[in-house]
Amino acid sequence: MLAGRSSPSQRAAETGTTGSGGDHTLEIDEAAEAIVFAELDRLHARGHRFSAISEERGEVDFGDPEVLVVIDPIDGSLNAKRGLAHHALSVAVAEGTTMADVAFGYVHDFGTAEEWWATRGGGAHLNGARLNRSVGERHGPDGRIEVVGIESADPRWLAGCVAALVDRAYRLRALGAIAPSLCQVAAGRFDALVSLRGCRAVDAAAAQLIVREAGGLVSFPAFSEPLAAPLDLVPHSPVVAARAAATLAELEAICLSR
Ligand SMILES: [Mg+2]
Repeated sequence: MLAGRSSPSQRAAETGTTGSGGDHTLEIDEAAEAIVFAELDRLHARGHRFSAISEERGEVDFGDPEVLVVIDPIDGSLNAKRGLAHHALSVAVAEGTTMADVAFGYVHDFGTAEEWWATRGGGAHLNGARLNRSVGERHGPDGRIEVVGIESADPRWLAGCVAALVDRAYRLRALGAIAPSLCQVAAGRFDALVSLRGCRAVDAAAAQLIVREAGGLVSFPAFSEPLAAPLDLVPHSPVVAARAAATLAELEAICLSR
């Protein structure tokens, strides 16, 4: 679908409606979601029962509220619209109502043609190869954390936390898509990630399991339990990920104080 709509005008065309997640819907968002739901329809016809929650359509009943499929048809729509690299399909399957209940996570980054997936207790994989759980945090020449990813990088929100980052981060990177950014932490390409605003479950549900199954740490710090963020369409909490517990705690404090 994306390959067939490669021109800037095709990528930027809007449907004129607003999705359940609150953003203006692009035609590519709607078309990507239609492809995913055609597959869900096929699974349902074969006897599988579940519920779906997706960025544009919201909640859709496929016969079982206990199994929840959480979908962002395109995470990083602004990147996809503008021809920038990172934009991804994100699909999570959960056996409950919070991030802690996600049992399967799948992220396909169309910019890098990388396929990330994890099963709870079964490890995380990139393009079929198991990710190393023991990748540690790296530091720049002055001891600060070498590469920290930033999401929801509106300069007004960055302004509120940049002083705290000065002391901790050697370099910042902003990819512009939460799921691919979390996956960079899973592979140890980013040492940590912080979103400056509340992210939605559809953005983070799959990738947060991929990070954890790759030996990383994830927290949704608006909640007292780190993985208590509900699987719905409301942006409840920022997301923080790291390879080391001390860094996770420091970044939680930064995004809560902002
Ligand atoms: Mg999206």
